[in-house]
Amino acid sequence: MRKLPIADVLPISASINGAGRLAIQGRDVREIVEEFGSPLYIYDEATIRAMCRDFVTSFREVYPQTEIEYSTKAFSNPAVLKIIEDEGLHIDVVTGGELAFALAADFPVEKINFHGNNKTRQELMEAVEAGIGRITIDSFHEIELLNEVAGELGKTQVVNLRLSPSVDPHTHRLTSTGVLDSKFGFSIETGDAEKAVDSALSQSNLDVKGLHFHLGSPLFELEPYDEAVEYVCAFAARMKYVHGLEMEEFSPGGGMAIGYLGSKLPPSIAEYATTIADSLTAACTKYGLTEPRMIIEPGRSIVGRAGVAVYTVGGIKRIPGVRTYISVDGGMGDNIRPALYEAEYEVMSVDDPTGEFFGTATIAGKFCESGDVLARDVKLPEVGPGDLLALPASGAYCVPMASNYNVQPRPAIVLVTEQSETRLIRRRETYADLLATSVYE
Ligand SMILES: *Cc1c(COP(=O)(O)O)cnc(C)c1O
Repeated sequence: MRKLPIADVLPISASINGAGRLAIQGRDVREIVEEFGSPLYIYDEATIRAMCRDFVTSFREVYPQTEIEYSTKAFSNPAVLKIIEDEGLHIDVVTGGELAFALAADFPVEKINFHGNNKTRQELMEAVEAGIGRITIDSFHEIELLNEVAGELGKTQVVNLRLSPSVDPHTHRLTSTGVLDSKFGFSIETGDAEKAVDSALSQSNLDVKGLHFHLGSPLFELEPYDEAVEYVCAFAARMKYVHGLEMEEFSPGGGMAIGYLGSKLPPSIAEYATTIADSLTAACTKYGLTEPRMIIEPGRSIVGRAGVAVYTVGGIKRIPGVRTYISVDGGMGDNIRPALYEAEYEVMSVDDPTGEFFGTATIAGKFCESGDVLARDVKLPEVGPGDLLALPASGAYCVPMASNYNVQPRPAIVLVTEQSETRLIRRRETYADLLATSVYE
């Protein structure tokens, strides 16, 4: 069997089959697309499970009291939530819609945490009424609003406080969240975090369990976690002394990177785990804190590598001495990441993954924006109309951020199971779906 190029950014079950084409769990990708249509998102169950297990094992090995909490905003689907539940993970949501989606998939409500910087009264009502496990409070307004809502419903709500530790994660400006100039969290630096602890502890319907931060994403470096854990633990020790806060739970968020390009691979999950656990253990000893239960919140790293987007090539435009544009049947409508924050992807020919280099081309989407480009200047074998191109590492933040710009129906999604079955887990939208919300007089 021929060796698969860029294997580190493809699903773990990817291979080249007897016909010389890309396969996932032994299933020929071209045949899957012929059955379910193009463009198509294909998810590999084996990769999702392997990532869940890698997180659980790597973290518990170095810090036994760890829970892994999957961020459903990275990609949510009833079939995927079943796998996540089956692997023993918790989840988080950031809107009432994501909560409704998780509840519709029968995810245990006590294992759900509600994040977000501006939850509405209605959303908080829905969450508290449903019996949600945790709410992570993000603003002074929310402390009072949630206390009021819980009071009205006659409940005591378990909460954590989201802090902003002023640590630069060295990722894209638009995906940094734990810096001083951010809409997220109570800043330790400005004194807001202390005021929030004081205020939350004084509310009669809130049970404050601990502290949380999330630095941003994707983080290819380990040092920012180390720096932020130490800083937040020093803060927790001060809050224990001054306000009597017992930090029973602690969360350093998610943001663990995945490989998008074969030339830029992230640290292993075990390396993230060791860094975070070592800093937490050391800080607890240094500041005399009881070691808290730790909650790790990966989103991208659980599903990113599991997903592959497949597009069909249409027109090819050659501008001599300038560039060659290969247009495909999807684009920013199903993957806005390159346009939004200059995300980069590998591109692979599905029909000829090991094909000889033919030329450099830019993969353009079909949407009416010049910025609708999926990948710039990628090296490809010879491709023509009707050929299939795969974008690996498309499992996170593509479909969830998809839009219906240009009234383009969003793609179907297929899960390839560990038993090599192909299961449609989201049907392709139809024109009727898109027309349904308009009001015709
Ligand atoms: C988005 C988010 C995560 C997950 O981030 P990933 O980069 O997908 O791992 C975790 N925690 C919070 C609070 C988030 O907003």
